[in-house]
Amino acid sequence: MLRIAIQKSGRLSEESLKLIKECGISFINSSLKLKTESTNFPLEILYLRDDDIPGYVADGVADIGIVGENVLVEEGMQQLAVEPLGFSKCRLSLAVPKSDDYSDISDLQGKNIATSYPNLLQSFLDERGVQAHIHTISGSVEIAPSIGLADAICDIVSSGSTLISNGLKEVERVFKSQAVLISNQSLSDEKRAILDKLLFRIHAVQRAQRAKYILLNAPNDKVDTIIKLLPGIKSPTVLPLAEEGWSSLHSVVNEDDFWDIIEKLRDAGAEGILVVPIEKMIK
Ligand code: ATP
Ligand code: MG
Repeated sequence: MLRIAIQKSGRLSEESLKLIKECGISFINSSLKLKTESTNFPLEILYLRDDDIPGYVADGVADIGIVGENVLVEEGMQQLAVEPLGFSKCRLSLAVPKSDDYSDISDLQGKNIATSYPNLLQSFLDERGVQAHIHTISGSVEIAPSIGLADAICDIVSSGSTLISNGLKEVERVFKSQAVLISNQSLSDEKRAILDKLLFRIHAVQRAQRAKYILLNAPNDKVDTIIKLLPGIKSPTVLPLAEEGWSSLHSVVNEDDFWDIIEKLRDAGAEGILVVPIEKMIK
């Protein structure tokens, strides 16, 4: 049995549970429980505060975990990282009151900065040769300037709306973060094998999220031109339609180039284009 630690409630919880479910792993989810076992995969889930996850995984209380890179690096545990998971994307930024004249980082020399991430902030300032007084506080960082506790803050930003509503402006990006899968570094062979199975499923889910299955009809004399536009896994499937002189083409396209390709396909004579989500994709 492999033990995974995920955040009990917060910005990582929902997506972490969603990923586990999309891997086909079922469990009874009760918000009151601190521990659940899967009913169809050798996985036990521990629900913890996100700050505690790297430490529990390093100590082997949990075998693996999902945590924000910001917390992982702040706690000096980057060696536990297995791979980024692509969700809970955010950044750690420096912000100052909107009315401040800020031109560059040297403006923070000698200033008081409030943050919950003293280590990440310290190394950012060190790299730029700026000395400032860092006040470590555990929450409500964005009100620090308005209550006179600090001249600037260093906090997590995603859209920036919290900063704006507290009369602040983002001036420097300190660290870019997303959720990462972490692992204890001395897993037994049995646990390693379960982790490999889980990673296999995670990769299938991730590939599927970026890919779309596309079906279209085209006159036979346009098929060659259209095939050149379709970057399939191997090459597109071409099937004859009941209607004489027409074919149906099936392929997989990446979400990123999706709209670009759709337009080119239409221009090349494709009709009845269907785009379908893919649930899992095995290479
Ligand atoms: P806990 O009670 O578990 O200690 P917390 O309050 O410390 O929770 P959350 O605010 O839930 O933490 O954030 C957890 C992680 O989610 C952060 O460390 C960061 O990686 C990411 N995160 C935080 N804010 C956002 C956001 N606005 N958008 C996306 N990801 C975010
Ligand atoms: Mg926390």
